[in-house]
Amino acid sequence: MNNHIELKNVCRAYINGAQSVTVLKDINLTIASGEIVAIVGASGSGKSTLMNILGCLDVPNSGDYFIAGQSVADLSPDELARIRREHIGFIFQRYHLMPDITALSNVEIPAIYANTKRSVRRLRAAQLLARLGLEGREHHNPGALSGGEQQRVSIARALINGGELILADEPTGALDSCSGEEVLQILTELNRQGHTVVIVTHDRKVAEYAHRVIELRDGRIIADNCCRAIEPSAGLSGLPEKLSDNEQEDWRSLWDRTRESLITASKALSAHRLRTVLTMAGIVFGIAAVVTVMALGQGAKQRTLDDIKKLGTNMVSIYSGGDYFDSSGKSRRPLTLSDLDVLASQSFVDSASPEILILQPVRFRAKSANAAIEGVGRDYFRVEGIALIEGSNFSDYDDALQEVIIDENTRNAIFHDDEGSLGQTILIGSVPAKVVGVARNNHNYSPNRLSLWMPYTTVMYRLLGQQNVNSIIIRLKDDTSSEAAANAITQLLTQRHGDKDFMLFNRDQIRRSIERTGKTLSLLILVIASISLFIGSLGVMNIMLISVSERTHEIGIRMAVGARRSDIMQQFMTEAILVCLAGGVLGIALSLAIAPLFSSMAGSTLTPIYSWKAAFLAFVCSTLIGTVFGYLPARKAARMDPVVSLASE
Ligand code: ADP
Ligand code: MG
Repeated sequence: MNNHIELKNVCRAYINGAQSVTVLKDINLTIASGEIVAIVGASGSGKSTLMNILGCLDVPNSGDYFIAGQSVADLSPDELARIRREHIGFIFQRYHLMPDITALSNVEIPAIYANTKRSVRRLRAAQLLARLGLEGREHHNPGALSGGEQQRVSIARALINGGELILADEPTGALDSCSGEEVLQILTELNRQGHTVVIVTHDRKVAEYAHRVIELRDGRIIADNCCRAIEPSAGLSGLPEKLSDNEQEDWRSLWDRTRESLITASKALSAHRLRTVLTMAGIVFGIAAVVTVMALGQGAKQRTLDDIKKLGTNMVSIYSGGDYFDSSGKSRRPLTLSDLDVLASQSFVDSASPEILILQPVRFRAKSANAAIEGVGRDYFRVEGIALIEGSNFSDYDDALQEVIIDENTRNAIFHDDEGSLGQTILIGSVPAKVVGVARNNHNYSPNRLSLWMPYTTVMYRLLGQQNVNSIIIRLKDDTSSEAAANAITQLLTQRHGDKDFMLFNRDQIRRSIERTGKTLSLLILVIASISLFIGSLGVMNIMLISVSERTHEIGIRMAVGARRSDIMQQFMTEAILVCLAGGVLGIALSLAIAPLFSSMAGSTLTPIYSWKAAFLAFVCSTLIGTVFGYLPARKAARMDPVVSLASE
């Protein structure tokens, strides 16, 4: 913008309800660079409207506006913002400073949007403030400054990016005459240094400073008087170097702007602490619910898996007989010891044991109890994963040895505490047997059951007097698919027996069906928890919308000094994401705090299991919520009309 600005037949009308009011009518105006022009006129004559058009805050309904020969009619909002940022400095009657940040930070804002390095812009802002007599006041908030001082801060802000064209809309209107005089002195001084200055004022004295006085009435120019000639200016030499030379790389400026919006966001959030906390509460409870449900679900799943593991999932049980309801009465081949040998020699079989169950009274001296006696092989304890806590396994099982292994329940039931059980002979039915080992209680059975194990040969020949086994229990090798193994066993036995006269029972099937049920259930609970999170998210959106309308004025100021739409967008998105992230962190913390409570309330040994995955998911979730639910309010903010937003206060 090196020579001048030019308005040609510019009209601006406002639609007020059904009727349209034309505020500027056919304005033709040229302002040369280096001029200082005063615009005067009664209130409502259209001065501010004209200034807004000159400053690219507003666009004419018809007519053309050229800046340095370029028409602004075709420019996008962001291109207009660029012109404001790089060439124009606004000075308003009511200063329009941001109240929550220091004078220095206020001055810096346009330079942030111009991608100026932090060190450069801070230095320059401090220099400008010092030049305007505000040394020592840089770190005061606007509220702590007098009106005249605030107006000087706003002049510094207008100059930070260069401010070739300074538009001052009644800059002295809110000031006492002394401060007003000072401001006018500064503006004429700036003009002498080469800035083009347009001042809207009531103050007739301004005419003394101005080259031209333009008078508006009812939206028309009714007078345009030259008072004095333009003196040759010293150029803009009084200013530090042009800031665009100090632009930084994109990623740096992005980080810079992100940091600024983080600072702004945290300030805005802490300015409304109660509201922030209430907004966050929705997210906190939502995230806590989801994380807790996931952790408890994981815990429940783990417990089920542990339980099932104790059951042994890689086990197959085989029973003789066609099926549970077989009543054909056909004679069948029972399972035999040679079936057992063949099965045990299969490559996928880890170990195999017969299992013959009978109920018998057991007795030691005066004490007796009813117990379940199982005839098993040496491998049985390995197959079932039962640990011996005392003594050892049977020495052999082929010879119907009269040895017995008892569980803890049995030991407690028939032995006194001071009697050692190992080596004692007890009576099982009428058969005496020596206790060779004590096994840990197996809680897969009912906890009070008394279990004893004897070599299957002993049970078959001495207790039952039969040659066959009722069932065989097989532990598969760990890497074997239980389904494939079950098929192979079925085939093998069918071939040996000539008929499928046995039942196969695969414990892996139970595990899978339990897991499926568990999955469905936790999915259901997760959906419910997610609904609460969703409602929390709506709360965020609601509060963000309120925040945007409350801060319309701030948005207007930022736009006036050259913020792009994306800058405004980023600012509000940052705020929304910040609230949600903080809510997410607190939600995880809350979940950690309440989960033990939950599991103790459930009166079980259910321990919640927290995984990094869940925490990470919660983070991603809350960021996503911030992004999705902050988007609408942020977009609303970014699309505001700068003139309308500036006017709201
Ligand atoms: P001045 O600054 O000279 O006092 P303005 O330019 O602010 O006058 O306003 C000129 C006229 O335009 C006034 O009558 C005002 O009511 C009207 N006006 C200004 N802005 C709007 C708007 N956004 N919508 C409707 N009318 C407006
Ligand atoms: Mg006005």
